Amino acid sequence: MYKYETHIHTREASKCASVTGSEQALQYKRAGYEGIIITDHFFGGNTCIDRTLPWKDRIELFCKGYENAKETGDKIGLQVFFGFEQTYNGTDFLIYGLDKQWLIAHPEIEHCTIANQYRMVTENGGMVIHAHPFRDRNYIPEIRLFPNLVDGVEVINYGNREQENIEAYKYAKDYNLPMTSGSDGHHHEVLGGGVRTDERLNTIDDYIDLIKFKKNYKLL
Ligand SMILES: [Zn+2]
Ligand SMILES: [Zn+2]
Repeated sequence: MYKYETHIHTREASKCASVTGSEQALQYKRAGYEGIIITDHFFGGNTCIDRTLPWKDRIELFCKGYENAKETGDKIGLQVFFGFEQTYNGTDFLIYGLDKQWLIAHPEIEHCTIANQYRMVTENGGMVIHAHPFRDRNYIPEIRLFPNLVDGVEVINYGNREQENIEAYKYAKDYNLPMTSGSDGHHHEVLGGGVRTDERLNTIDDYIDLIKFKKNYKLL
């Protein structure tokens, strides 16, 4: 069986994170994970990348946390995949299946609508997951649901209160949406989270298929 963490941050790109990509790789390897997906805060969220830089430079810097995690992962035998977390006025979406080259070529992703984000991501074979939809904090103006503009719902998030995860689970169940789990780890700790699979995932596309087609996996 294989454990994959699906939602973690690095301090190279996320302002709120204290751990580097390389340190994330080391600590998840130690915790018995087969792989991790780096999902730093994109430019609509808590990014530490200077928004005044040219687009390509911003993407290069944004991908550093992932690249540092991947470099360490390759040395220690941990798979590292790329994703990101985009934010619309406090509503967070995890995006999987797009890569650095795609981002460099599509600066329009930065200010597109939630509907256009879904169209652009899915037309390119990617996946949109609503991250912790019922999280209730002072920096989130309102809880908003977009069941037709996501491929799935993060129903377990280790940064959430239990009740917020219960609400997310009910929501996903009512709308028959695929479910995911993530640690939302930002610091020097592995809280748990992710999915457990019987088969090893070779690419991020394997993770997307696992979730979208509700293949055999367990939430951690
Ligand atoms: Zn954060
Ligand atoms: Zn996050």
